[in-house]
Amino acid sequence: MRHSNLLVSKTLAHIAEILKVGKTGKLIDKEAETFIRDNGGIPGFKGYRGFPASLCMSVNDAVVHGIPSDRVFTETDIVSIDCGVVLNEFYGDAAFTFAFQSVHQDVLKLMKTTRESLYKGIAAAVIGNRIGDISYAIQNYCEKIHGYSIVRELVGHGVGKNLHEDPEVPNFGMKGKGPLLKEGMVLAIEPMVNMGGKAVKQLSDGWTILTKDGKPSAHFEHSVAIKKDVADILSDHSFVDDSIKKNKEIVDISINF
Ligand code: MG
Ligand code: MG
Repeated sequence: MRHSNLLVSKTLAHIAEILKVGKTGKLIDKEAETFIRDNGGIPGFKGYRGFPASLCMSVNDAVVHGIPSDRVFTETDIVSIDCGVVLNEFYGDAAFTFAFQSVHQDVLKLMKTTRESLYKGIAAAVIGNRIGDISYAIQNYCEKIHGYSIVRELVGHGVGKNLHEDPEVPNFGMKGKGPLLKEGMVLAIEPMVNMGGKAVKQLSDGWTILTKDGKPSAHFEHSVAIKKDVADILSDHSFVDDSIKKNKEIVDISINF
């Protein structure tokens, strides 16, 4: 699973290099599929319950599950890219939200907070804790401390030979509640955080989830293996940060991390 998640991470890093204003989501998706296959993997999302692309690409008020389209990126867009691959029969799953250079500071703050909340959740993902400890850590950070809203309808999940396995990993909940965390469990932890209200709706394409109020939403995801004192993060966003440093069109949000 580390290998499949490393391929996911390197695919996201490749995307971070080629993501530019004026390009379409469809083009990026095609490039990502080629990259995954050239590295011996199979796109994990393509064909999953009929999903038509290799990447989920969710722009601005899209929360998750967006379909790459012919729309060109503009310099005020934020783009959540969720990538899954199958390698050696196991799934890798991770996501990152990118911002072009004219994105407003308030939206960058939302992205940073969402990313930070992922690590708050991961810090609680240790043997002996429960799913609710992860959920609480994320919710408390995003809602109570920062005043954003956590999406309720979509959650993280176990991951392995299937893309979505038990248990569910909500980004909201109560300390000490839910399934016990045991060594070797692998969880995809993925806060989806709205700048405005928590309500979402589904687009008529049957996939894209949008915020109801049209305000932006951010999404970051890691797959982590449960261990004793600290979770083993199988995916690696540092590759993505390195690529962003080489792409002047994308804002480097790794500062202060
Ligand atoms: Mg994902
Ligand atoms: Mg996931």
